[in-house]
Amino acid sequence: TERPYVVGNWKMNGTRAMLSEARAIDRSSQRLMKVEVALAPPFTLIHAVHKEAAQLAIGAQDCHTDEDGARTGDISAAMVADAGAKFVILGHSERREGHGETDALVRKKAEAALAAGLRLIICCGESEQVRDAGAAEDFVTTQLRGSLPDSIEDAGANLSVAYEPIWAIGTGRTPTVSDIGAMHRAIRALLVERFGEDEGAAIRILYGGSVNPDNANELLAADEVGGALVGGASLAAESFLGIVVAA
Ligand code: 13P
Repeated sequence: TERPYVVGNWKMNGTRAMLSEARAIDRSSQRLMKVEVALAPPFTLIHAVHKEAAQLAIGAQDCHTDEDGARTGDISAAMVADAGAKFVILGHSERREGHGETDALVRKKAEAALAAGLRLIICCGESEQVRDAGAAEDFVTTQLRGSLPDSIEDAGANLSVAYEPIWAIGTGRTPTVSDIGAMHRAIRALLVERFGEDEGAAIRILYGGSVNPDNANELLAADEVGGALVGGASLAAESFLGIVVAA
């Protein structure tokens, strides 16, 4: 649990022209053994990144609840695993907001992903309105309670949680180190309650939202922060590796 986990989320970005960035991230992260580096490209690049960036853990940004069937346009957990994915990001605020994903749906997706042998990164986070109302911790812990499966085998290894305040995503704004620490402690308490002392303590809690090479060191030093989920700054190898080095 001491090894920081730094995950790039490319969101809806990336064509084959960006495979060179993935290769550069792969090459350098091999030399940075103190950090676990992972990348979640769009579905269309999972297999190519898996083949060309062999040391990098590759993940998907979503999956369907079903294994297969008549679901035009959807992608199952088994399919992304077959393409080379080792993990999946679920419950990102962009999917909750843009696709109406509920806590219950995220939880069903998580169960499907585990059944396909994928590790999980489950996202949570409050809006600015909720933060201003002083209800952030209540909101986030309720959201997470509803989004997590009841039991996960070897939860310490198979589950990570990403705290991503919506108002900090892509805005250049971040919470204070003290606010991040307080939220991560609340999440830790929930994880220990759900998964027990040992497993609950081993689950990594990532911070996400405007992480860049300049603020990564400070943000990752906050209480109970086990790594970062990086959007914009993960699109170029240079800035992403700057974060990895600072972690
Ligand atoms: P940014 O790093 O671009 O703020 O995005 C964070 C995020 O949503 C990662 O999942």
